[in-house]
Amino acid sequence: MKVGVLALQGDFREHINSLIACGVDVVPVRRIQELNGVDALVIPGGESTTIAHLAQTFEIFDEIRNRIASGMPAYGSCAGMILLADHILDAAKDQKTFGGLDIVVRRNAFGRQVDSFEEDLEFKDGFPGLLKAVFIRAPWVEKVGEGIEVLATVKSHPVAVRSKTLFATSFHPELTGDHRIHQYFVDQVARPALKKVQ
Ligand code: GLN
Repeated sequence: MKVGVLALQGDFREHINSLIACGVDVVPVRRIQELNGVDALVIPGGESTTIAHLAQTFEIFDEIRNRIASGMPAYGSCAGMILLADHILDAAKDQKTFGGLDIVVRRNAFGRQVDSFEEDLEFKDGFPGLLKAVFIRAPWVEKVGEGIEVLATVKSHPVAVRSKTLFATSFHPELTGDHRIHQYFVDQVARPALKKVQ
């Protein structure tokens, strides 16, 4: 399995390092040829409007949207969660997303005073023990559609969700040196989804 990391803006290098630590084949994705060569995609944190804008400039926006719609496994962290959401609240004017996850996400939901914070989370699926989660101007999930599983919450707001092929977290696992979230995506989301397609 080859995993791409969308490398237009944001902390894509840290995601590449986390995925390498999980033992998978990783490539940065900026061009359509690179996108065509990957089985799964990670969308990093950064600025969701900038990433969407650059994806249009690099002429890969529609193809990413189509691949996700046809079942390519993807993981989005923070801005990446926003980009995977079908609906956004407090969006910038005309803000577009790749979509695919039937969720409503509120941008910058945790407010100004707590722009950034850390919290030890229980992650419901996959591994025992607490997970140190870093939130940076993070969104939360305000509503989930059918078929969406909530995996972690902060103050009763979902901050980790998944469908059959898509996974999203409000927080940044690539910054903690704990690779369990990336391993979860590889082993519990991407591999099973790809097996079904073949
Ligand atoms: N607030 C940013 C946005 O809306 C996301 C922040 C992040 O990815 N750390 O895109």
